[in-house]
Amino acid sequence: MTTPVTENPTIFGKILAGQIPCKKVYEDADVLAFHDINPVAEVHFLIIPKKYIPTLADIDASDTALMGKMLSLVPALAKEQGLTGGFRTAINTGRLGGQEVYHLHIHVFGNRPGGEPLRSLVGKA
Ligand code: 5GP
Repeated sequence: MTTPVTENPTIFGKILAGQIPCKKVYEDADVLAFHDINPVAEVHFLIIPKKYIPTLADIDASDTALMGKMLSLVPALAKEQGLTGGFRTAINTGRLGGQEVYHLHIHVFGNRPGGEPLRSLVGKA
């Protein structure tokens, strides 16, 4: 069940509660996906759990199925949104991880076929 908005004070809590709109990509009983308001690539959406989990550092063993479900949705949703040539996923965690909204979310972003490849962030000097 969705945590009441009074216990989830984040902007994503308000989106889940229907208090502010979003451009929806996907929804089921456990998960909502919607386009990022400030995209960093041609396509950029977020997958969030309906359960209020502030950060990836807050998950425990009881969240294994939910986290697996969220990650498993990524390829199909990315394809549906036109990211057929590849994409990047990211989960920013905590202040030093660059997290701004404290409701766990997976970023999925990339350019459509014919667009520029994303610049690699890791593994290169
Ligand atoms: P973080 O830095 O926490 O990993 O990412 C938060 C993301 O949420 C940012 O990419 C930001 O653009 C996005 N965001 C913040 N406020 C809103 C909003 O009201 N609606 C939508 N759709 N995205 C938002």
